[in-house]
Amino acid sequence: MTYKQFMTVIVKLTFPFVYFCFMANSDAADDLPFLQAGGEMAELIRGFNWAGTSLGPLSLWPPALKIITALLLSSRFPMLLCWGPDYIQLYNDAFRPVNGRDKHPKALGSSARETYAEIWETIGPMFEAVMRGESFGFPDFNVRLERNGYPEDCYFDFSYSPLTDEQGMIRGILVICKETTEKVRAIDEQSSLAEEMTAMNEELAAANEEYTAINEELIATNEELHQHQEQLRASLESVARSERLFKSIALNIPRSLIIVIGPDHRFLTIEGDLMTRMGYDSRDYQGKHPLEVGPAERYEASRHLYDQVLAGETFSVERKGATGEDFIVHFVPLKNERDEVYAGLIIALDITAIRQAEEKSARLAAIVESSADAIISKTFDSVITSWNQGAERMFGYTEAEMIGETIYKLIPPERHDEEPRILARLKDGHRVEHFDTQRLTKDGRLLEVSLSISPVKDPQGRIIGLSKIARDITERKLDEQRKNDFIGMVSHELKTPLTSLGAIIQVADAKLRQSEDTFLAGAMQKAIIQIKRMTGMINGFLNISRLESGKIQIDKAHFDLQELIEEMIAESELTISSHTIRFQGCGAVRILADRDKMASVLTNLISNAVKYSPKGKLIEVSCEVNDRSVQISVRDQGMGIKPNDLPHVFDRYYRVSTTHTQHISGFGIGLYLSAEIIRHHGGDIWAESQSGAGSTFYFSLPLVE
Ligand code: ADP
Repeated sequence: MTYKQFMTVIVKLTFPFVYFCFMANSDAADDLPFLQAGGEMAELIRGFNWAGTSLGPLSLWPPALKIITALLLSSRFPMLLCWGPDYIQLYNDAFRPVNGRDKHPKALGSSARETYAEIWETIGPMFEAVMRGESFGFPDFNVRLERNGYPEDCYFDFSYSPLTDEQGMIRGILVICKETTEKVRAIDEQSSLAEEMTAMNEELAAANEEYTAINEELIATNEELHQHQEQLRASLESVARSERLFKSIALNIPRSLIIVIGPDHRFLTIEGDLMTRMGYDSRDYQGKHPLEVGPAERYEASRHLYDQVLAGETFSVERKGATGEDFIVHFVPLKNERDEVYAGLIIALDITAIRQAEEKSARLAAIVESSADAIISKTFDSVITSWNQGAERMFGYTEAEMIGETIYKLIPPERHDEEPRILARLKDGHRVEHFDTQRLTKDGRLLEVSLSISPVKDPQGRIIGLSKIARDITERKLDEQRKNDFIGMVSHELKTPLTSLGAIIQVADAKLRQSEDTFLAGAMQKAIIQIKRMTGMINGFLNISRLESGKIQIDKAHFDLQELIEEMIAESELTISSHTIRFQGCGAVRILADRDKMASVLTNLISNAVKYSPKGKLIEVSCEVNDRSVQISVRDQGMGIKPNDLPHVFDRYYRVSTTHTQHISGFGIGLYLSAEIIRHHGGDIWAESQSGAGSTFYFSLPLVE
């Protein structure tokens, strides 16, 4: 059913009822029964001055108009009736809102043409068409009404249908309508909302996509950031490490100053124990320009060097310190991976000690070179590492011929065993001094040399080699030989008359012993003692000359050492009354040795103990037998020997010269001869002493089966 059909049905359904009302009261026209439906509009219609309109007074209205008015007023649907050519309007209560507050109630009794002037263009032609018999009906028909003080888009479901009078003439128009503005607006709003929603949705989707993209980007950026942060952390750590390393390097290089400058000459770092000595106080220099923290002159003096290093140059300069120190300053450009200089590293080192050492070694080198002695250094493998001109002159080999060669080239084959013995002593850190031996020259001559060999140590005290000074003692040896020959000859010549003298005095002693002249009897005894002393001395000299010329004779035989000691003590006691000699024996000890020479060693030690200790003191002789040797000691309570004299008392002709000893006669040969005799027996001899607290002389001899 169309809208129009629907409206027609409504009219048709309501018409009989309206017609009935109208007809039922037709007799009481004054009561205007067609207005009985009541309501505001019925009242207004009733009160309206219709006479002033083309409709004329109510009572004169044609029945058709009345019927339709009654229908209109009784309808709950909004209805408007436009009658006559002026379209004079009547409408019901339900129609009032359509007219709004501007058009209601003005519209009542006035022309629709006026009331709806603003939309007449639209509805005017339709009205005219209805007046010609047409009907119209539209749903949600849009008109722009001005009914509440402003133009308003209004929508209506409506029907325009012609109204005829009793004669069937078309006299007016019935408008039945229902405002759908709210609905249309709601639909519009909904659709615009929907559109908006769609747009928003689309926007949202786009935004979402963008968001996803941004999110992805963010994740990527985040990852990158994380990586950067990691890198940053790693580089910070490495910077911190480098800084720590740098500082520890700077602090651990003694007498150094390390500076790093930036491209603008500002100090990035400055470290080292030379800071104050090089004119830098303890200020915080980091990030400061040299002009901010130090005197301008210092900066001016270094400025061109800073420029030079920052220009990529590596170089070093030497500087003299205020108090004469020598500094070397190294300039090193620091470059990045693109080979661009980003900083300058300046390392200043105090080389005063090195300079002094260089000067010292230059002086030493000059001394070594000019020395008449051969000064040679060698390794522990006996390989020669240096060879001075003295060595060249002495041995005839040039430096080039000897560097890298073995020292054995200089040692006569029969003395090859000397070298290992010397090395063994040196390895213990000892020096070997004045070791008299022979060496071979390039032209095959045998040279008499005195060697002094000492270990060469590095600054840490490790032995890294040996230095050897060889002195040509051929001349000295010849002199000694001549002297020895002379001593030997003199001693020999003296010995014969002395022996005769001794024999004569002994005979005289025997004869004079019973003499009444007590002086003569005693004098002979004293003369015998002096002759014995003199014989001892001459024997000593003879022995020396024999020893020196290698002619000393050792006649070994088995005998009891304890017996010999007792004998020697008894003999000494004959001539010594000033000291007490005590013997601590060890029982019979058989040894294989030269008895006479052992006797002279013992006599020498006992007579020294007597000579170098005051009268009345005790002399203790003792004998001790060990596993493989026997050890004899002679202890006195005398003046003792100072530590620096002690190692020399066994040297030939060595005598300690003090105020105490100057009145004690001697030649310094007794201990020398004793030591030589003991060594010829494969034994050892040594002394222990404290100045002022006595001395003990020891010797030991190997025990043989
Ligand atoms: P000398 O004939 O001078 O005694 P020696 O060779 O016997 O010669 O002794 C060398 C030096 O050793 C002596 O001059 C002396 O200074 C010192 N000397 C030796 N024995 C003793 C001792 N028992 N007490 C102190 N000094 C001693």
